[in-house]
Amino acid sequence: MNSQPDRTVDSVSLNTWQNIVRWFDSEAHNQHVPENPNDENRISWFRCLPFLIVHLACFGVLITGVSAVAVIVCLAMFWIRMFAITAFYHRYFSHKSYKTNRFWQFVFAVMGNMASQRGPLWWAAHHRNHHKHSDEDIDLHSPVKHGFWRSHIGWFMSEKGFKTDYSVIKDLAKFPELRFLNRFDSLVPIALAIFMFALGEFIAAFWPSTGTNGWQMLVWGFFISTVLLFHGTFTINSLGHVWGSRRYETKDHSRNNFWLALVTLGEGWHNNHHRFAVSTRQGFVWWQIDITFYVLKSMSWLGIVKDLNPVPARIVNEAYGPKAGGTPANHKRNG
Ligand SMILES: [Zn+2]
Ligand SMILES: [Zn+2]
Repeated sequence: MNSQPDRTVDSVSLNTWQNIVRWFDSEAHNQHVPENPNDENRISWFRCLPFLIVHLACFGVLITGVSAVAVIVCLAMFWIRMFAITAFYHRYFSHKSYKTNRFWQFVFAVMGNMASQRGPLWWAAHHRNHHKHSDEDIDLHSPVKHGFWRSHIGWFMSEKGFKTDYSVIKDLAKFPELRFLNRFDSLVPIALAIFMFALGEFIAAFWPSTGTNGWQMLVWGFFISTVLLFHGTFTINSLGHVWGSRRYETKDHSRNNFWLALVTLGEGWHNNHHRFAVSTRQGFVWWQIDITFYVLKSMSWLGIVKDLNPVPARIVNEAYGPKAGGTPANHKRNG
C-alpha cells in the first residue's frame, strides 16, 4: 500500500486519505503518469466530490429560504467574480494584455481564486494551451473534438485536467505567492464561504427585519452564486466554439456571441479573441459590449493597471471595415 503510492495518478488507486489531501493540496500525488495514457482522461469522481457538493448544497435553499438581501449578495458575488475571472485570470494572467504591479497582481489572483475555479497558474496554463492547440485533439476542452459535456466540465474533472503545466507559465511561476495560491487553491474559496456565513449572521443581528441569517447567506452568497458562476464561465469553452458567428476565419471554431458576451462581461466575443488574443478588449467595435474592458479602462485611470494593449486597426478592418474604427489606408477587406 505505501511502497509506491504514486505509481499511478488514477485517484481510485490512491487511498482515501491521499485523495482527501488532494482536495486541499492540488499538487499532492501529481508527480507520476499512469502506464495507460487514457487513464489520465478518466473522471476522478472522488477528487471532484467538493465540486459536486457545491452543486448539491444549493438545495439547502429548501431549508434556508430566501430574502432580498441574500439574492442581492448572490448577484453581486456572481458579477464581481465573473469580472475577476475575465479581467484577471483570463486577460491578465493568461494573456498579459495589460500591466500592473506585484501588489495588485496578488490581489487579482486572490479575487480570481474566489471564483473557486482553481488557482491562477492552473487557469492560465490550461488557457494558454487552449490557444496553442484550439480545437485540435489535444485541446482538452474543444467541443468540436470532445463534445459538449467534456468541454463544459469533463475536461477539468479528469486527472489530466487537474495538473498545472508549468512549462507554459514560467513568467507567473516565479512569484512564490502565486505558486502558494495555486497549490492550496481551496483556501480562498473556504474563507469566502466562512465570510458569507458571518455576513449573514451579522446582518441578522443588526437588521433582523431583512429575514436573513448565516446559513441562508452561505447558500445564496456562496453556493448558488458559485454554481451560476461556474456554468456561466464554462459556456465560453463549451458554447463559445459552436454557437454564434465567425467574423474571422481563425484556424479554430471560435464564435462571437452577444448573449455569451452579456453573461461573461465581454468574453463572448470569442472569435475576435482568437484572432487577436493579446488585446485587452475583446469587443473590437463600439457595439460589441465588453463590460470587462470598460472597468479595466476605468482602473487604468485610477493607476491600478496600465498599458492596456489596443487592437490594431488592420485587425479590426479585416472583419469590420474601416468605418468600424480602423483607417482607410489599412483597409484590406476582400469584400
Ligand atoms: Zn477558445
Ligand atoms: Zn484567451
